[in-house]
Amino acid sequence: MNPLDLTRRYNPWLLELPRYVPGTAPAGDESGKLSSNESPFVPPLEVVRAVDAAAHRLNRYPDPLATALRERLAAMHGVDAEALLVGNGSDELIQLLAQAHLGPGARALMAEPPYLMQEIACRACGASVAKVALADYRHDLEAMAEVEAEVVFIPNPHNPTGTAVSLAEIERFLRRSRAALVIVDEAYIEFADDPDELSALALLDDPRVAVLRTFSKLYGLAGARIGYVAADPALIERLRRIRAPFSVNALAQAAALACLDHPEASAGARAAARRSLTRIVAAFARAGYRTVPSQANFLLVRAPDEEALLARLAGAGISARPGSVLGVPGHVRVSAGDDAALQRLEEAL
Ligand SMILES: *Cc1c(COP(=O)(O)O)cnc(C)c1O
Repeated sequence: MNPLDLTRRYNPWLLELPRYVPGTAPAGDESGKLSSNESPFVPPLEVVRAVDAAAHRLNRYPDPLATALRERLAAMHGVDAEALLVGNGSDELIQLLAQAHLGPGARALMAEPPYLMQEIACRACGASVAKVALADYRHDLEAMAEVEAEVVFIPNPHNPTGTAVSLAEIERFLRRSRAALVIVDEAYIEFADDPDELSALALLDDPRVAVLRTFSKLYGLAGARIGYVAADPALIERLRRIRAPFSVNALAQAAALACLDHPEASAGARAAARRSLTRIVAAFARAGYRTVPSQANFLLVRAPDEEALLARLAGAGISARPGSVLGVPGHVRVSAGDDAALQRLEEAL
């Protein structure tokens, strides 16, 4: 056994972690914030009312397992409730999955560029991160299958590119890879052409597969912090042992349940996001910019003049995310917006 190191104050690798830079809001009207892939729509009134009702019981701790919500989600996805865990946004679940599987000497695998929170979560555990360059903006799962790693992250659709890999490609990856855990992050999957055909929920019979979903994007609850993971019940049980029992507050649980009661609102948000992206593609095309075809609620614009384009958008009250902070310099990432934002975007271009 090693002697104690009483000079060690903290894990030294923390100083090497990349920094997550959140999207900024434009001065003035918040509708111009197209930098964080949020929903431009406020939650339906019924969701606000459900949160209000739950607020009257805030003297009590929340249900640690979000039982009512978990059962609704289990029925909705046709999975066992024991195969689900609700978390404080999928970001908490990403951290728990990393903690459960990784430590110093272990390795995680992801794309270059990755969704940065996944790299941070793995490296915070002391693990190393191997990255495989995207091929034509998509995950190169053939090349990734050649890399040895304990844990693999596949955001599908990917952030920051909005591109998706097919379910067949993921299945082939699973056959070839020796990884103990393959995490498919489906934060944006509801915006894809055919989410049911694409989702790795169909692969849950494989105990190496974990699927992440969130209420932050389609359902417009980014401020409530709530998401969930579907995986083998034995893995869910291990995550339950390390999580803070009350990480998902009562207001968030009430809001998420109420969202599921109003599928017309989420269906409307999906249709609006898809219309919005069509308009954004056309506006950039008229201004001479090409965009990467997207299956999400945002898209990547090819912009050799990244800084000038961002400044031009900012001048019209639109904030977008610089590609250079997302690992894709020479690009700008733009989220779907409401009509007011689109009009300003079109004028700016
Ligand atoms: C936005 C996003 C999430 C959602 O994170 P939450 O913590 O649930 O808000 C997860 N993964 C990716 C790739 C994202 O872009």
